[in-house]
Amino acid sequence: MEHVLNLKCVICGKEYNPAEIDYVCPDHGDEGILDVQYDYDLVERRLSPGDLFHSTNYTIWRYKPLLPVEPETPVPPLAVGWTPLYKTRRLAAELGLKNLWVKDDGQLPTASFKDRASAMAVVKAQEKRAKIITTASTGNAAAALSGLCASVKQSNVIFVPETAPQAKIAQLLVFGSTVMLVKGTYDDAFELCLQAAKEYGWYNRNTGYNPYMSEGKKTASYEICEQLGWKAPDRIFVSVGDGCIIGGLYKGLKDLLALGWIDHLPKLMGIQAEGSNFMVQAWENNEDVLTKPPINAQTVADSISAGLPRDRMKAMAAVKETSGAYLSVTDNEILEAIPALARGCGVFAEPAGATAFAGLIKAINEGLVSPDERLVVLNTGNGLKDIASAMKAVDLVGTQPYCLAPNLNDLHHIVSEWP
Ligand SMILES: *Cc1c(COP(=O)(O)O)cnc(C)c1O
Ligand SMILES: [Zn+2]
Repeated sequence: MEHVLNLKCVICGKEYNPAEIDYVCPDHGDEGILDVQYDYDLVERRLSPGDLFHSTNYTIWRYKPLLPVEPETPVPPLAVGWTPLYKTRRLAAELGLKNLWVKDDGQLPTASFKDRASAMAVVKAQEKRAKIITTASTGNAAAALSGLCASVKQSNVIFVPETAPQAKIAQLLVFGSTVMLVKGTYDDAFELCLQAAKEYGWYNRNTGYNPYMSEGKKTASYEICEQLGWKAPDRIFVSVGDGCIIGGLYKGLKDLLALGWIDHLPKLMGIQAEGSNFMVQAWENNEDVLTKPPINAQTVADSISAGLPRDRMKAMAAVKETSGAYLSVTDNEILEAIPALARGCGVFAEPAGATAFAGLIKAINEGLVSPDERLVVLNTGNGLKDIASAMKAVDLVGTQPYCLAPNLNDLHHIVSEWP
């Protein structure tokens, strides 16, 4: 990987040769998350916006010269990436905005943003000829790894909290993963998985811990900017659990700025659930995320329930260095955002996906955005992932189906009462 200069520790700044280190900075253990650094001059000789304009590869691999893989490395066959960026005129108008786009990563192969990282995990594990890949997950990273592994027949062991939504557990079982349902929280599953990977030498995909996951996730920023004709938006709203997505988005934007393909960094707006708001607390109180103790996380948005965000250093930098903000929204606001987003533009999000939209509404109400800003909301997960929450959401906003006998009389009675 001659275009990769080194892996740099987010704590001490020490730089390592990628051939020598697999995961974290040896001096800083699990907290010493590494950042992949590139030789942008070399990247520039290998890829240009003009090349991309003519590319017919509509997956994250269209950006291969910007990713930590060799040019000839085989990639999994599932089509990960290039999800639609919808310009939502009606929803924008309803919110008093001029330019609002929704990027729908619920359309990725296993129906969440996590496919971007898991595709990368499978490639890196196969480079290492790993017999087994493992991850802990609230559900989506697991489903993504599970599906991507199935596409290349790679063995994997998955640790999820036993309370994960049924659809996500079903995905794991259908794809044929070895599934460990952990009696505990996501944070418990994460710790166990780290120990297991060390004990048995399994390739470790864990969020934050594995430096290549942000590199897969950064492709969403490339796509957003390319889909907007390299005219970067003013703000991007994204939900935050471990902080790997927001850190990855920031990384992608920094790459594009370094290459001169965009001329400014969008402000990153990290949205958390009130009951899982470690980053919001740290942001508001100016706390050091390295020494701040874990919180007790609880939210309907299971995908962003994280007591100790693993990628908190990168996540804090993403918001600070783009002059963005961290905001929290209540579980009710999250649930209400599901039908609001769906009815506004036809995108059905799971709670963690709708959280980003709930954050936009909050930001508008608090006067944080001006009407003519160019705004992007990222939906990170498909609504079909968590039907129980969707049903709660429609109940909350008072939407009910009619129940009737199969005859026209009953139907007539209903229709006659319409306003
Ligand atoms: C994982 C996930 C997130 C949050 O990503 P982090 O990297 O943990 O901050 C948000 N939405 C969905 C649907 C997810 O699966
Ligand atoms: Zn270090």
